[in-house]
Amino acid sequence: MGIVYLNGQYLPAEQAKVSVLDRGFLFGDGVYEVIPAYGGRLLRLAEHLQRLQNSLDGIRLKNPMSQQQWLEVIQTLMQENESQDQSVYLQITRGSASYRDHSFPESIQPTVFIMVNSLHAVNVEKLKQGVCAITLDDIRWKACNIKATALLANVMLRQQATEKNCAEAILIREGIATEGAASNLFMVKNGCIITAPISSFLLPGITRDLIIELALANNMALQERDISENELRNADEIWLTSSTKEIMPVIKLDNKSVGTGSYGAVWEKMIILYQDYKNSLRSGEAQ
Ligand code: PMP
Repeated sequence: MGIVYLNGQYLPAEQAKVSVLDRGFLFGDGVYEVIPAYGGRLLRLAEHLQRLQNSLDGIRLKNPMSQQQWLEVIQTLMQENESQDQSVYLQITRGSASYRDHSFPESIQPTVFIMVNSLHAVNVEKLKQGVCAITLDDIRWKACNIKATALLANVMLRQQATEKNCAEAILIREGIATEGAASNLFMVKNGCIITAPISSFLLPGITRDLIIELALANNMALQERDISENELRNADEIWLTSSTKEIMPVIKLDNKSVGTGSYGAVWEKMIILYQDYKNSLRSGEAQ
């Protein structure tokens, strides 16, 4: 990693330092975003900045920069990073006070950190191998729509999946499958794509929205409704989606084959639409 942005300065990553009293460090008191860019073009920048604003509102932190300022800093950092595809990580914490107290301190400056990393192009042929997932009880709080840096529950959940050689943990809250530890959840039954509606129990994924848009634009059947644990176990296809992983077909859930045990026909159609969309973004035809 080369140059990063920290509180108004561009500097080498190893020289970027924050205080040990930063509330991001002490409490996980902050929010973040991850924005992919293809061929130098940011995917759904306005939607990512709107979600950032919603997260900031959710933790009652004022946005320290205007849309234009975010764009300028992000573009400056993207120019420093040479790779074809990139992922932009940005984080805002409530900043550091002179003492540790849970309540918000008065008039402190938020900490703003941005870095750009290379994004390795998703290989569709490799994706076709599919991934395994496990189900776990959703032990997170009830404000999962906020993209908070406090990710301890997600970390513990993902680690359990990793230790079972699985790519993701699919979370169940009171019998309803909400999302993955770091991804949104889709299932397919009898040709219909189903995903949970937006609520405070899941992050409103930008990839999720894009998939819904692509499905509707291509006359594919889609429903936004709750998915019960039982339905999930009887799905023809299960997908996990995120900005950096795109759309992963789940071929095994809790060690049992999903559908035919291979990627499904609806997934195959969607991943082609998604790649086409990325290519149109690269060529400047799409937003
Ligand atoms: N849910 C959670 C909990 C996530 O952390 C993420 C992003 N990593 C997603 C869903 C997917 O969101 P997006 O499509 O915007 O990457």
